[in-house]
Amino acid sequence: MAELSQPATVLSVTDLTPHVRQLVVKPNRTKISFQPGQWVSLKLPIGPKPPLNRAYSMADLSSPSGELTLVFDRVLGGLGSNYLYQLKPGDEIPLSGPYGNFVLPQPLDRELLLIARYTGLVPIRCLLKQIFFAELQTPVLLIALAPHEEEVLFHQEWLTMAMQHRSFRYLPLVAQNGEAEAVEKAVAMLTPPVKGQPKVVPMLCGTKAFVRPLRTYFTEGGYDRKEVKVETYD
Ligand SMILES: Cc1cc2nc3c(=O)[nH]c(=O)nc-3n(C[C@H](O)[C@H](O)[C@H](O)COP(=O)(O)OP(=O)(O)OC[C@H]3O[C@@H](n4cnc5c(N)ncnc54)[C@H](O)[C@@H]3O)c2cc1C
Repeated sequence: MAELSQPATVLSVTDLTPHVRQLVVKPNRTKISFQPGQWVSLKLPIGPKPPLNRAYSMADLSSPSGELTLVFDRVLGGLGSNYLYQLKPGDEIPLSGPYGNFVLPQPLDRELLLIARYTGLVPIRCLLKQIFFAELQTPVLLIALAPHEEEVLFHQEWLTMAMQHRSFRYLPLVAQNGEAEAVEKAVAMLTPPVKGQPKVVPMLCGTKAFVRPLRTYFTEGGYDRKEVKVETYD
C-alpha cells in the first residue's frame, strides 16, 4: 500500500551523462518497500500551485537501509527536472509511494523484450537487476534508445551484463528521428515471429511519442493490448 507523504533527504548527486543526473534519497520516516518497475511521487515546492507532483521510477533494487535511487534527464524548460537539478546532498524533498504496475509478469515463461528510450530505461534497469539477482533464466532482449551517443544510459553496465549472462542480449541504438521505425526493424530481425511459437513479452517505456507507435506495432502484429506492458512518462 502507498505510504503517506514524508520528507526524504538527498544523500548523493551524481551526473551519469551530460544531461542525466542520479539522486540517491532516503525517506526520513518510513522505509518504502517497492517492486522493481514502480515509482515514487515527488512533491516539489514550486509552480503556480505547489506542490508540483512529479513521478520518478526507482533505478535500483530496494536496499536494506531504504535508500532510493532516482535518475532523470533535464527537460528543456521543464519545471520539475530543473528544480531537481539544483538539489544538493542534505536537501529534503517530500515524496510518497510506491505506485505503479510496470512490473514483471508472473510467471515469466516467455522471452522478455524490453524497449525504452533515454530515461525510460530507468525502471528497466531495476527490472533487469531483479531478473539477474534472482538468477532467472528467461531470455531477455533489451533495445535501448538514446538521443545522442554521449547520452546512452547505463551502457557499460549492460555490456557487462551481456558478457556475464548468456540469456541477455543488448542492442543500443542512437537516433533523433524515426526511433520507432528503427526499433521495429530491430525487433523483426532479432525476434522474428515464428508461426505456432509463443510470443515474447514486450515491455515499453518512455514518452508517449515513442511508446505509442510501438504499442500499435505489436497490437497490429497480433498482440492483445494488455499483453504489451507500457509505462508512459508524459
Ligand atoms: C510513472 C512515471 C515514471 C517516471 N519516471 C521517470 C524517471 O525515472 N526519470 C525521468 O527522467 N522521468 C520520469 N518520469 C517523467 C517525470 O515525472 C517528469 O515528467 C519529467 O521529469 C519532466 O518533468 P518537468 O516538470 O521537468 O517537465 P514538464 O514541465 O512537465 O514538461 C514535460 C514536457 O517535456 C517533454 N519531455 C521530454 N522529456 C521528458 C521526460 N523524460 N519525461 C517527461 N516528459 C518529457 C514532454 O513531452 C512534455 O511535453 C516519469 C513519469 C511517470 C508518469
